[in-house]
Amino acid sequence: MNNTRLYSPHPFCWRPGAGERHATAERPGDGEAFTALCGLETEADLSEVAWFFATCGTCNARAHELAAVPMRSGDLTGDGERI
Ligand SMILES: [Zn+2]
Repeated sequence: MNNTRLYSPHPFCWRPGAGERHATAERPGDGEAFTALCGLETEADLSEVAWFFATCGTCNARAHELAAVPMRSGDLTGDGERI
C-alpha cells in the first residue's frame, strides 16, 4: 500500500506585473516580459511589495480551470465579480 500522493505541479505560476498579480505559463525573471493567462503582455515585477498586488480576476479564473480546482465562494471571477 502506497499512500504517497503524487506531486503534480500546475502548468503556470504567479507573477506580479502592471499593478496586479497575474498567472502565466512562462517563468519570467524580474523585469522579463511575459504573457499572462488573461492575455496581458507585461514585465514581471519581483520586488517585495509587488507580491501584495491584488490578484487579476481573469488569471485567477483561468488558473482554477487549469488546476481543475473549483472557485471558492468569494473568489474573483473573470469579470472581477465575487462569487
Ligand atoms: Zn491577468
